[in-house]
Amino acid sequence: MRRVVHTLFTLTIFAVVAALLVTVGLPQLRQVLQLDQQASMEPYVWRPDRAGAPEPRPRIDGVPIPAVPEDARPERILPAVDPGPGGAYAFEHVTDDGTPVRHDPCRPLHYVVRTAGMPASVLVEIRDAVQRVEEASGLRFEEDGSTQEAPAAQRRPIQPDRYGDRWAPLLIAWAGADEVATLDGDVAGLGGATMVTVDGTPRLVTGAVTLNEDVLDRWLHLPGGRDYIETVAVHELGHALGLDHVDDPTQVMYPEGSLDVRELGDGDREGLALAGRGECHTDT
Ligand SMILES: [Zn+2]
Repeated sequence: MRRVVHTLFTLTIFAVVAALLVTVGLPQLRQVLQLDQQASMEPYVWRPDRAGAPEPRPRIDGVPIPAVPEDARPERILPAVDPGPGGAYAFEHVTDDGTPVRHDPCRPLHYVVRTAGMPASVLVEIRDAVQRVEEASGLRFEEDGSTQEAPAAQRRPIQPDRYGDRWAPLLIAWAGADEVATLDGDVAGLGGATMVTVDGTPRLVTGAVTLNEDVLDRWLHLPGGRDYIETVAVHELGHALGLDHVDDPTQVMYPEGSLDVRELGDGDREGLALAGRGECHTDT
């Protein structure tokens, strides 16, 4: 009797997109940017097809979920990070026993950047932000180059034609409201993670970060502006690792950006360190 390892069953996906909002209007005169609120998208639920006799690999959007990637390792890639003294942090999703839903630390977290139309200095800030988040989380990031994929509210988590038989990499894009309707003039960026539950075990498999060019382009030329863009990227990457907003204004994960908060706070550090201490998976 052949029973496959991945007799997976509820496979649910959903992407959470949280927005960092800024108030428009002479932002160069404002030391504190008004940001608020986050928006979640409707969950995407995979419903297994019970008709077929053999247990098929579950599909999402008609595409079988990918096998364990070849660059996955039996042990975590980077050492786990000490959470430090601790502070305010929150996770977007936790299981019934309170365990946060996280990425797999035994495989690289691949990302692609849509570089078309992106100023070269923004790419520099993005890479700096990724490095900071990698160091704080102990999750290994790997840049897979540029992509032409456009950000989308309902992004397909597996795109074989574009990325092959694997979970689509984290997408980082520079885009405006003409392309992404939720990026109206108040939103500095969007960030979120895609969660999949396989055989009852939820995990994050990819994510997306979109930086609002309509808002951030003007910051490129203002004092401290590039640091601010980097901080927005760190905040959105935090969402892509499963972190939620906190009420403490000294943390980068506070929903309002500020030129005064550039360094990760103790809560950010604890949250990111925990975000990097998820389980390693062998089913997909
Ligand atoms: Zn946010």
